[in-house]
This record gives sequence, C-alpha cells and structure tokens, in this order.
Amino acid sequence: MVERTDVRIHPTADVAPDAAIGLGSSIWNQAQVREGARIGARCIIGKNVYVDTGVVIGDDVKVQNNVSLFHGVTIEDGVFIGPHVCFTNDRVPRAINPDGTLKTGADWEVSPILVRYGAALGANATILPGVSIGRWAMVGSGSVVTRDVAAYELVAGNPARRLGSACPCGQPLRDAGDDPFVGTCPSCGAPFPPEGGP
Ligand SMILES: [Zn+2]
Repeated sequence: MVERTDVRIHPTADVAPDAAIGLGSSIWNQAQVREGARIGARCIIGKNVYVDTGVVIGDDVKVQNNVSLFHGVTIEDGVFIGPHVCFTNDRVPRAINPDGTLKTGADWEVSPILVRYGAALGANATILPGVSIGRWAMVGSGSVVTRDVAAYELVAGNPARRLGSACPCGQPLRDAGDDPFVGTCPSCGAPFPPEGGP
C-alpha cells in the first residue's frame, strides 16, 4: 500500500492499492484509478473518471466528470480536462482482423498522448492517438484534435484548426492575418507572447 497523506477518496471510488496519489488530491464518486497510475498533488479527479494503468498526471490538474485517461496518456502540471473529453488510443480501430478473428491486445500499439503544462481541453473534445498538446494551449469544446497543437495555440473544430493564440489567463488572442498576435493581452495586461516562453 502506497502511503497517502491528506487525500480524499470517495467511498465509491475504486483506487488500486499501488496507485500513487499526491498530497491534497481528491478522487470523486465512482472514479477508477488503476494499478501503477501516478496522480500528483492537489488534483481533482471527477466523478466517473477512469485512470488507466501507468498513466501519469502532474500536480494541480483538474479532470472533470466522465473522462477516460487510457494507457499512454501523460498529463503535465496545471492541465484542465473538461467533462467528457475523449482520449483515443487506436488510429485505425477494428474489432476483428481481415480473416474475421478477434483482435487481441497484441494486435495494436499504444500511441502516446502528451498534454503539456497549463493546457486546457474544452468539454467533449476528442484527442487522437499520437498527438501532443503544447504548454498553455487551448482546445475548444467538441474539437477533434488530429495533429499536434503548439504552445499557446487556440484550436477548435473538426478537424481542429488554429483560431489564434491563448494567453495564459485564458483570453483568446486573434491572429493578425497570417501573423500570430503580438502585444498586450486585453484581459490581463501581460505581454504576449510571454517573456521566456514557451
Ligand atoms: Zn491575459
């Protein structure tokens, strides 16, 4: 049993004894955290969330209700994952082989997904296998993300396309023609792109 300090686990949650859960994190109703998963400090794991074997989640991450984090997904610190966000792990899914036999776990490879520091994924976004989402990037609700998203990039739609940039405060910053926004964020007043970033 991994020692857990100041962790709140709802009685209906199913948390593997060897899963690591950091200081101050909460695991809500009917969530399942599998063997070898690592969840950082001060995370909120919402109702009915599934955290697969070996999944790594950083500190200060919010995972809203009904999100499934499959094997191969890595979430860095400070990430927001909206309700019903869908991470996929097979680009060419089939239940059976061409000869009609049932596919097994040996018939496909895991394609990792990385979500980097501070990024936010809107409700019901779908993330395809092998995609990386950059620091402070923002993905609009209902998007289907088929390619990598750059740091600070704001994308939406199916397939998700660039709409502009996103300030770390969350403010959308529209491109000036083909050029990314450069200047002062109208919401928080910080320079964009941020000094020293990404
Ligand atoms: Zn701002």
